[in-house]
Amino acid sequence: EPMALDARLDRCADRYADRPLVVTDDVTWTYAQVRDLSVRLADGLAALGIGPEHRVGILMTNYPEFVPAKFAAARTGAISVPLNFRYRREELAYVLRQSQCSVLITMTGFDGMDYLAMLDEIAPGWERGGGEALPDLRHVVVLSTDGRERDGAMTLDELAQLGDRNPGASAAGRRAPGDVGDMLYTSGTTGSPKGVLVTHDAVQRTAYGSALTRAFQDGRRVLFSLPCYHMFGYVEGLLATMLVGGAVVMQTGFDPGEYLRAIEQHRADDMLCVPTMTVALLEHPDRKRRDLSSLTALLSGAAPAPAWLYERCRDDLGVTEMTTGYGMTECGGAMTLTLPEDPIERHVTTVGRPKLAGAAGLPERGGALVEYAVADPATGARLADGEEGELISRGPTMMTAFWGKPEETAQTLRDGWVFSGDLGRITPDGYLQVTGRSKELYKSGGELVMPKEIEELLCAHDGISQAFAIGVPDDRWGEIGLVWIVRAPGATVTEEEVIALCKQRLARFKVPKHVLFASAEELPMTPTGKVQKFRLVTRAQERLS
Ligand code: ATP
Ligand code: MG
Repeated sequence: EPMALDARLDRCADRYADRPLVVTDDVTWTYAQVRDLSVRLADGLAALGIGPEHRVGILMTNYPEFVPAKFAAARTGAISVPLNFRYRREELAYVLRQSQCSVLITMTGFDGMDYLAMLDEIAPGWERGGGEALPDLRHVVVLSTDGRERDGAMTLDELAQLGDRNPGASAAGRRAPGDVGDMLYTSGTTGSPKGVLVTHDAVQRTAYGSALTRAFQDGRRVLFSLPCYHMFGYVEGLLATMLVGGAVVMQTGFDPGEYLRAIEQHRADDMLCVPTMTVALLEHPDRKRRDLSSLTALLSGAAPAPAWLYERCRDDLGVTEMTTGYGMTECGGAMTLTLPEDPIERHVTTVGRPKLAGAAGLPERGGALVEYAVADPATGARLADGEEGELISRGPTMMTAFWGKPEETAQTLRDGWVFSGDLGRITPDGYLQVTGRSKELYKSGGELVMPKEIEELLCAHDGISQAFAIGVPDDRWGEIGLVWIVRAPGATVTEEEVIALCKQRLARFKVPKHVLFASAEELPMTPTGKVQKFRLVTRAQERLS
């Protein structure tokens, strides 16, 4: 039955009251405890004047407090805006201003990040409001995580106490399932991050689709360090687990030894990883020492994983249900999953099929959660299945709009379809293959070039660790091809060698005109670890001019 996020928490808390919902090394919070704290915080926010017309920013690592804070925002009717805790000052300033948050719930600091110092630089005097720099920001609530306090700033405890003095204050803010509840920023791989508005119902359907497709049993225990500000941790981790009365075992950062210890200590049966994390777990010396017998499932996302990784997870970690997924913020999270019973080949070459739909009250129980098609990236016209083009999707999980970006919204949302900007095809048996991003294609001498083809060729070379092919604007040719190369440790591969290799193996129009070298640390990255090609283009222009 569709319901708002806060109503869902209430429903789960009625049903699973004394079961653990949030487990960290320091605390275990039951469903009832999370609900109670979320009510107090919501009443406190409402007493500050927060309601459906506001946005509540949450800048916090995977601390247990993130969970009640998130549901508290929903309970006031406000849109919650979970923010990337790795943002640098400029990025944080941009999203705080762009989202027009009225309240920010944050923590003092974490892992070398000092959020209070960042706020001091962005909006001096923020304790009393954001001033000229952040005109919409009226309150900042701080959870002390390192013993520091800031005079004049409200603490999370004080917000809860304010709620105690105003019981029921948040009741007026209740939202319907179809109202927008979340605004999540995209990773910013192709430009400035965009605030994606999704409804209370959309994220729950994506979560339910996971629980159903991955056959979650009652009381599942899911370990993750992937952040809750991103769809991966939030929907596949927190929400999906909550729907089956399970517990999330949250870590604030990834450390392979700690991860292995947490599996043993908290008897986790499922975990979320990106492939680099899985490799680190397999290589860690503690792997053989730890009792990993509880672990049966792994959800791998964000990048393709090689076949040997699947084999070793099965053989060395005892994972029998390994799944990979594909999704994007605009679609309410992961929409496709491979199935544990799929042959390894299929996990490696595809990103699976649409998740099953199954939330109670939905017409087709067991049908596909979303519908997929392929379109011509230039015209938007539909292509036949099997042809390569831009992946488009529609269904009940899709975003309603980008916050404050009507042009981008119209570009992305056309006739009810979300245009992904990703290239791919649909196999005859309905599996999706992702081959690249349309924004990263370029034209050289009028011919369309697929960067991935060049990058794969170059990365196969022993002296090259990473390669990024881009199109750089050129007065004469429109665009010219260029590759950025990160050399393998100790390698001395030269521009001439790179060009010679391309000439030998690629059609002439695909051979890059320039080769530039960089170290891995110099590459422009999003806080989620994706390389930003649009910045590589600007940098190439600076170097060439
Ligand atoms: P921005 O939209 O701001 O440029 P972004 O697209 O990286 O950033 P996200 O919504 O976090 O922001 O990421 C979604 C994108 O990640 C997808 O559009 C796709 O390009 C990529 N992606 C996600 N899962 C996979 C996967 N399994 N295989 C390949 N690519 C994937
Ligand atoms: Mg995107």
